[in-house]
Amino acid sequence: MLRIGIGNDTHRLVEGRPLVLGGVQISSDRGAEGHSDADALAHAIADAILGALCEGDIGVHFPDNDPHWGGADSLELLSRVMWLARERNLHVVNVDSTILLERPKLRPYVDAMRENIADVLGIDVGCVSVKAKTGEGLDAVGQGLAVTAQAAVLMQSN
Ligand code: MG
Repeated sequence: MLRIGIGNDTHRLVEGRPLVLGGVQISSDRGAEGHSDADALAHAIADAILGALCEGDIGVHFPDNDPHWGGADSLELLSRVMWLARERNLHVVNVDSTILLERPKLRPYVDAMRENIADVLGIDVGCVSVKAKTGEGLDAVGQGLAVTAQAAVLMQSN
């Protein structure tokens, strides 16, 4: 059995917050606002997996008013989502994702993100794609006000 899921996550960028994407700390003068570490890529992938399972979204499983998840490492949250998948005897075949961020350039960080995500999902790094694009100066991403991540996952029963 095959299952497909998509995820999308946006966080506002503010001064005085770290910018974490795919578990990698990015050197930036602005970071993502949020209850957890606000890792938009981890959140989008977690939502894609939950979507493939028809299990709602991360807001259902990890409410942002739950103090347990305050400042949480979102790779831990992604790992919890994988438990749910394993309970259903489903594994991830591959992940494709896109991060939309105006600056800084993410290219130097992409392979470390792919390694982190592959580790958590229990798959080969060759099955994890992370692409990076800008907003061309146009929308909230383009104005440097937000970071967005999009993800698609394919899952298969064991
Ligand atoms: Mg989020």
